Amino acid sequence: MSAPDRLAALATRYDLVIIGGGITGAGVLREAVRTGASVLLVDRSDFASGTSSGSSKLVHGGLRYLQSAQWRLTLESVRERGRLLREAPGLVDPQAFLMPIQHDSKPSRALMQTGLFIYDLMAGRLTSRWMTAREVADAEPALSRENIHGAMYFQDAQTDDARLVQRLIEDSRALGAHALNYVAAEDLVRSGERVTGLVLTDRMSMATRHIEAGLVINATGAWTRQFASATVRAPQLRPLRGSHFVFAHDRLPIAHAITWLHPQDRRPVFAFPWEGAVLFGTTDLDHDMRLSEYPRMTAEESAYLLEALNLRFPAVNLAASDALSTYAGVRPVVAGGKDAPSAESRESALWSSEGLISITGGKLTTFRVTARQVLREAARQSPHLALRADAPLFEKGATEDAASRRLQGRLGANAAGKLTSQSSAEDRELVPGTPYSWAELRWSARHEQVMSLDDLLMRRTRMGLVTANGGRELLPRIRAAVQADLGWDDARWIDEEAAYLSMWQQRHAPA
Ligand SMILES: Cc1cc2nc3c(=O)[nH]c(=O)nc-3n(C[C@H](O)[C@H](O)[C@H](O)COP(=O)(O)OP(=O)(O)OC[C@H]3O[C@@H](n4cnc5c(N)ncnc54)[C@H](O)[C@@H]3O)c2cc1C
Repeated sequence: MSAPDRLAALATRYDLVIIGGGITGAGVLREAVRTGASVLLVDRSDFASGTSSGSSKLVHGGLRYLQSAQWRLTLESVRERGRLLREAPGLVDPQAFLMPIQHDSKPSRALMQTGLFIYDLMAGRLTSRWMTAREVADAEPALSRENIHGAMYFQDAQTDDARLVQRLIEDSRALGAHALNYVAAEDLVRSGERVTGLVLTDRMSMATRHIEAGLVINATGAWTRQFASATVRAPQLRPLRGSHFVFAHDRLPIAHAITWLHPQDRRPVFAFPWEGAVLFGTTDLDHDMRLSEYPRMTAEESAYLLEALNLRFPAVNLAASDALSTYAGVRPVVAGGKDAPSAESRESALWSSEGLISITGGKLTTFRVTARQVLREAARQSPHLALRADAPLFEKGATEDAASRRLQGRLGANAAGKLTSQSSAEDRELVPGTPYSWAELRWSARHEQVMSLDDLLMRRTRMGLVTANGGRELLPRIRAAVQADLGWDDARWIDEEAAYLSMWQQRHAPA
């Protein structure tokens, strides 16, 4: 069965074409659609399949940026965290942290208290406090008690990064934007010095089409330099890899996020409950694999992370084989000439030429600030793209019930309402061992441009990360639930299953 030509349905010209459907591109799409402009976003793979599904999933002020006196970045991040918590409950939720302090700890209790006080002041609310050793032992029994003086308690936030991207894309589409996954920007088209369009290839149908663009936004993260040319300068990037383990909650039973310094290099590592499992990470090292290859955790990273974990949780004593999965992401960091990867700045960088704006770096947390920066530059080149007032990005649902809040956060209130009214009580039951309902799976299969099983299980839901063996044992039931909605015949399903399991083994199996 040949794939439909999705490019044929596009207009010949858009005011703005965004290349890259990670958090940066999706954030620009969401802000741009509010200007009334015609906007198209394309991603050569799935939405959020780059770095934006491989982050630590924290919406945070970046406590460690305070240490290096990056005041503006911290303040900006803390403000965005507050905004996202208010506007997107159920998608961005508060996360309580404990930072154990030992008797001989550096930084000391006093220094940490001062740092957290400033952090709280920036957010305009005091949440941090000292916990005694007794309180820590009661709150986190699995944590080592050796030499523990107490812990600092403070609050940040967590999210599902891929769902945050998807929500921005779906909300933008509801307002008239176009967004296509598996469509690659092959080349920029120029008229003299000015970029006036681009050549797109639909990787599902292999159709190719030239689209005219008032402006092109290059939001391709770690791959931004692919569009550099003699006339378009681009800063050097220093791709830095970070890897995480995902453990079953009963193997690493913690109630809070817990952060401490790695004994080797005193970098912060952290573990926290996420989507019914527990994430633990991360590393921060020069990414020496090819950028065209999908990143994965190496044996050295695994050993480095487990050393820190077993030091703090000796009774749990975990090995890589105990993990449900692993994942890695590549930070698109602008090279600043620092020796240590972790010393490089996480601020975004923007550069532009006629008809083309490129943006890279930055954080998940500050995507809205980055998007508005891009739109300001876009308005300078095309005045009709003037930014709208700083209105809320997300339409907040009205509910206090945790399950509905979660659904509204992930899908938006409108879609969540439709899903609930269209599904049976049986459909709303959870897929065993996951926080996802069968109805959610079906919704994604029908409405969220799922082109492969990988899209459904790794990004629309995160089943591939939070179940054993990528959810292999669940596949027959998943097939019964979604095959018809996906419109796949039996041969396609069998191919998809084989491709998914092989992808999972290569990229996410604990090694
Ligand atoms: C390990 C790690 C942990 C992190 N943790 C946090 C955190 O906890 N909190 C936080 O705020 N930030 C965090 N970050 C930073 C954050 O994840 C990134 O800054 C962000 O995801 C980058 O998003 P992006 O959209 O710029 O890039 P990407 O998400 O990589 O998106 C770029 C997209 O461009 C597409 N693309 C490339 N070339 C083309 C082409 N020719 N045509 C079409 N599409 C193309 C790719 O397929 C990709 O989807 C972390 C990063 C890493 C690596």
